Amino acid sequence: MSKAKPNVADIFRSMEYGPAPEAQDQVRAWLNAHPIFGHFIDGQWTKPGQQTIVSRNPANGEALAAISIAGPEEIDAAVAAAAAAFPTWSARPGFERAKVLYAIARLIQKNSRFLAVLEALDNGKPIRETRDIDVPLAARHFYHHAGWAQLQDRELSAYAPVGVVGSIIPWNFPLLMLAWKIAPAIAMGNCVVLKPAEFTSLTALYFTALLAEAGVPPGVVNIVTGAGETGAALVAHKGVAKIAFTGSTEVGRLIRIETAGTGKKLTLELGGKSPFIVFEDADLDGAVEGLIDAIWFNQGQVCCAGSRLLVEEGVAGAMIEKIKRRLNNFRIGDPLDKAIDMGALVDPVQRQRIDALVQQGVAQGATMWRPDIPCPTEGCFYPPTLLTDVGPANIVATEEIFGPVLAVMPFRHLNDAIALANNSRYGLSATVWTENINRAMEAATQVKAGVVWINCTNQFDAACGFGGYRESGFGREGGFEGLGEYLKLKREWLDEGEAVLPAPAAPALPTPVEPIDRTAKNYIAGKQARADNGGSFPVAAHDGRFAGRVASGNRKDIRDAVEAAANAASWASATAHTRAQILYYLAENLSLRAEEFARRLSDLTGADGTGEVQASIERLFAYGAWADKYDGLVHAPPSRNVVMAINEPIGVVGIVCPDPAPLLSLVSLVAPAIAMGNRCVVVPSERYPLPAADFYQLLETSDVPAGVVNIVTGKRDELAEVLAKHDQVDALWYHGSAAGAARVEKLSAGNLKRTWVNAGKARDWFSPTTGEGRQF
Ligand code: ADP
Repeated sequence: MSKAKPNVADIFRSMEYGPAPEAQDQVRAWLNAHPIFGHFIDGQWTKPGQQTIVSRNPANGEALAAISIAGPEEIDAAVAAAAAAFPTWSARPGFERAKVLYAIARLIQKNSRFLAVLEALDNGKPIRETRDIDVPLAARHFYHHAGWAQLQDRELSAYAPVGVVGSIIPWNFPLLMLAWKIAPAIAMGNCVVLKPAEFTSLTALYFTALLAEAGVPPGVVNIVTGAGETGAALVAHKGVAKIAFTGSTEVGRLIRIETAGTGKKLTLELGGKSPFIVFEDADLDGAVEGLIDAIWFNQGQVCCAGSRLLVEEGVAGAMIEKIKRRLNNFRIGDPLDKAIDMGALVDPVQRQRIDALVQQGVAQGATMWRPDIPCPTEGCFYPPTLLTDVGPANIVATEEIFGPVLAVMPFRHLNDAIALANNSRYGLSATVWTENINRAMEAATQVKAGVVWINCTNQFDAACGFGGYRESGFGREGGFEGLGEYLKLKREWLDEGEAVLPAPAAPALPTPVEPIDRTAKNYIAGKQARADNGGSFPVAAHDGRFAGRVASGNRKDIRDAVEAAANAASWASATAHTRAQILYYLAENLSLRAEEFARRLSDLTGADGTGEVQASIERLFAYGAWADKYDGLVHAPPSRNVVMAINEPIGVVGIVCPDPAPLLSLVSLVAPAIAMGNRCVVVPSERYPLPAADFYQLLETSDVPAGVVNIVTGKRDELAEVLAKHDQVDALWYHGSAAGAARVEKLSAGNLKRTWVNAGKARDWFSPTTGEGRQF
């Protein structure tokens, strides 16, 4: 007897679907015609290399195509092609570039089905996601940036493109990451050498066909394939002006070290361990759907995956039950089946890594639950996994798993939730789920994350900058915020002049500049503090006369200063109005003592002290003005959400000052930092440290709270090194020698703090671009 066909009511009850595979014949025909790929350089294909990597379909292990491995020779050729294309491409009017980007966007749309199928085959992610997310967002990125190319001449006239950009992307969103990297770069007039990930290069290789059709001139976009060594060769290439990297924190750190001292611009979009915070009053069903998206989208292989569920105790049980019920209806299977929830992991290497972490988590006390649903045994599949009884130190709560694995931790109070959320070396994204808008805003402002979603998750758009804090990297991608990563100020450094002045040949003579011998101390936590070693060193005026003594600060003094700065965190929550008032007050007090400051400066430096003091007063005013105006943007993405791009303080900022214009340069670096709510540890000019002592007297009389500005005098490079290594320092400005700059950048790799260095070059402190307009 044949089985009766189920009727609609039966289907509704069981929720069973038949398979709904997407057709793949066109993609198969293309793959059959290209069994082995070369590199795309200067608008042409190179001959396939001797060494290749097989690109496989992770759902069944079949070989799809072979890709060549680029060595230094191919990287050389690709960079040379990009460099040759740069002068013409960057000189094109914005409108001409805009038309090309627009054409690329249109072509992505016209090829969307093909791209969606190829991406699903190559990566293992469901066609539902490639079709509805990866491909449309990639097109949207080119549309949005076509607009920026159009507006560049008018809106960004102080900036120029950087030159050749080396882009290195991961395998989790191959086409989308390509769009994130290429669209802003070429929109702003740069040329690109892009290296896709070795597991998933095929959509990038297909994309080359669209370039010619869109009218992208040869050399503007070059695609080279290969693994880590190819990426490393691109990073090391001298002709590359900027590296844009998305990938693991481990490799990001290597790249930071490799690029140190080269002057290359760098953006790093790295790992994450993002919290998904659910409060008692949340719409739990909505939160569960959001969570499914947060951690099981793309098989959990997402840098901003909501991998830690922090749920308020009262609803933890109910929430977990709902998650389990939802997962019991999950469908795992063929990525080309339009009705599946989860496809295959990208490679068996990843599956082994994920499983090892889960096993370790269980050994450390976590309880594992998995739904009782079919999971293919062939191919690289891994079931959705829920871990409860997870302590904050459990490896599954601290390490990025990059797979479909959720760690659950209950909390009692908002403060506990924030503390748990911030208990991570990462800071990429966070989600807050609550019906209470006050709580949502409070949590969103306190969680240290580049992106916070409220009552939604994984919302991306080309108009909205995306990027992280801490070991999640630095730089933003998308929107106005992201453009700065592909531009440089036309005039930032002087062609001549040094940031470090030599000590006078003549020894400090006994006749002092001032009638009374001055001995300046350090200034830490609002108090004048003797150097830890009790020592001081003499400083000379420009002509060698003895000018006074300053504290010889050491490692311990810097540590004390960093601690004081970290403890002054409430400065970040002072209102912008308050911070502005304090900057004006500083200016007012400097103005009252202008003559005395000017005389001392003239005596010390031999230069015009009056002009320097006047410029310092004006600079304090300028940043007082900006304090409540550099307040971010509101974006309107197509999803109809409102996105607030708020400029937040970075945290504790080290500021190492140059020698020329010792007061003005210090003021120019410190004032913007504190205007935005940062706290600083300042190492003043080594050659002329005394004006910093005068400056702390101003701080004392101007209501600057203790710990907001701390000053440690001493050997610039010794102290800079301590700051660069310190894990509690979030960012570092360094003005000194080129060698010192390289060292600072290298050492910053420890906690991936953000650095800005002058690379030995001097700046015209009297005529800054800062303070003149909105900056990145
Ligand atoms: P994931 O964990 O996402 O695989 P990786 O950081 O290993 O991240 O890889 C991201 C990209 O970086 C890939 O394109 C990979 O080939 C490349 N890559 C790996 N190692 C290096 C390296 N040492 N230098 C430059 N690129 C690298």
